[in-house]
Amino acid sequence: MATVIRTYDPKFWDRFYIPALVKGLLLTFGRMFKRRDTILYPEKKYVPPEGYRGLHRLNKYEDGRIKCVACEMCATACPAHCIHIEPSAAPWDDGAERFPIRFDIDLSRCIFCDFCAIACPVDAIELTEIYDFNTYTRDSLVIDMEGLLSVYDVTRAGNVYERHNRGEPIQLPLLRDPPVRNP
Ligand code: SF4
Ligand code: SF4
Repeated sequence: MATVIRTYDPKFWDRFYIPALVKGLLLTFGRMFKRRDTILYPEKKYVPPEGYRGLHRLNKYEDGRIKCVACEMCATACPAHCIHIEPSAAPWDDGAERFPIRFDIDLSRCIFCDFCAIACPVDAIELTEIYDFNTYTRDSLVIDMEGLLSVYDVTRAGNVYERHNRGEPIQLPLLRDPPVRNP
């Protein structure tokens, strides 16, 4: 099949570059007075919408005690099999029989589907608005119980990005290499 090559045939006014230049400048200066679509990250941070599914947290009661009763419903519901819980007998006598001595989530496998939170019978696990957790190693993408509880501490006072954008100093939880455990 023959290839059709179209050549550019400038019109009379195209031979003078001034009209095209003026048109380009008008477009550029016109944008200066429109709302910006970008933000000065990280000084300002994007606030995700209600219901955004970011980093998990383990919730606590008012007295600071962990809500989780180590029933493992979340781990059973998790389609990515990335929740690992080790239960133990609960030391308190309020009806809860178990509590976790280990609660890890492998964030490198998690698909942030929220099934764990939906399955939890006591609202002990939730996904938060935090999206900018980052790390240098694959191992540190396993967040442990201490980390999950610290996410609760950071997020309990309200949306962290709205608070950050208001100038409140927010210390996001750091992901770190987990301690070496015996198998
Ligand atoms: S959000 Fe989904 S994939 Fe991630 S830990 Fe929960 S159930 Fe598993
Ligand atoms: S987070 Fe909820 S579902 Fe998961 S083990 Fe704890 S109490 Fe059970």
